[in-house]
Amino acid sequence: MTLSVVIPVYNEEENVQMLHEQLKRVLDTLNTEYEIILVDDGSSDRTLSLLEEIQRQDNNVMVLSLRRNFGQTAAFAAGFDFAQGDVVVTMDGDLQNDPSDIPKLIELIKDNDLVSGWRKKRKDPFLSRRLPSILANWLISNVTGVKLHDYGCSLKAYRREVIKNLKLYGEMHRFIPAVASWYGVRIAEVETTHHPRLHGKSKYGISRTVKVVLDLITVKFLQSVSTKPIQFFGPVGVLSGFLGFLILFYLTFDKLFFGHDIGGRPLLLLGALLIIVGIQLIGMGLLGEMLVRVYHESQRKPIYVIKKILGPESK
Ligand code: UDP
Ligand code: MG
Repeated sequence: MTLSVVIPVYNEEENVQMLHEQLKRVLDTLNTEYEIILVDDGSSDRTLSLLEEIQRQDNNVMVLSLRRNFGQTAAFAAGFDFAQGDVVVTMDGDLQNDPSDIPKLIELIKDNDLVSGWRKKRKDPFLSRRLPSILANWLISNVTGVKLHDYGCSLKAYRREVIKNLKLYGEMHRFIPAVASWYGVRIAEVETTHHPRLHGKSKYGISRTVKVVLDLITVKFLQSVSTKPIQFFGPVGVLSGFLGFLILFYLTFDKLFFGHDIGGRPLLLLGALLIIVGIQLIGMGLLGEMLVRVYHESQRKPIYVIKKILGPESK
């Protein structure tokens, strides 16, 4: 087994050296070939030059320098694209995760496809970080159906196949377990140590909560309707259209047989509205169906994932 450790760093000049030392100490005990991929996410301090220095001294280190600050998710994605290991471990570059937890994750990845850290005793400010994260974890676990205690923990281990199939957008890295669950991965969770941030500033605040909720909606939507949009929009559209039809039918009847005036009745508006909405929803479902085909066929993205093939073809 070979190992890649992917770490995004953004303005962590006081942390990178220590990070490298601690990491090296742990990885050297593992008896596996490893590489450390440090992704500089457009830092504006001395981080990059320190990383270059580290790389000169350690041949197991690879430094990727992004042209500007693209965000943690993009930095992970860059690291994943270059990672060669059979197992890929991710962690933060601010020393809040503890490299000495890595052996635990490696042990568990033998029987799982994804191992996620759980910062049980999280050392962050309560109001701005821990409270939103408690709510977010509750929400994510209920909406996505992937049960974890701590989605935000960066310390995770993946089998190579899991990340190579992944396309990450926005702030999606916390949803990797949920996205990956589509592939039918076995997920394990393990308690990990968490340290307070000693140097440098946290890059996130309370404003991230809204983004997380929006990303969650996207993930849920893609998870549940991405291969069957007409099934999602269709039934509501049909129901709405049918109700509208009933209402207008009744009004027509009233007009023709009882001679009542229907021009000023609110029901007329409602009936017309329901029919229009119904047609729109069905139209959206059909458009969705076309998009799904473009999406899957243009990328040759299959609608299934095979684990193993047994038989004459399986050479
Ligand atoms: N990070 C990054 N790009 C960004 C923001 C953060 O690469 O735009 C890195 C950062 O250097 C750190 C990790 O992502 O290694 C987690 O960031 P931070 O510690 O600020 O988040 P928190 O632990 O407060 O959630
Ligand atoms: Mg941190």
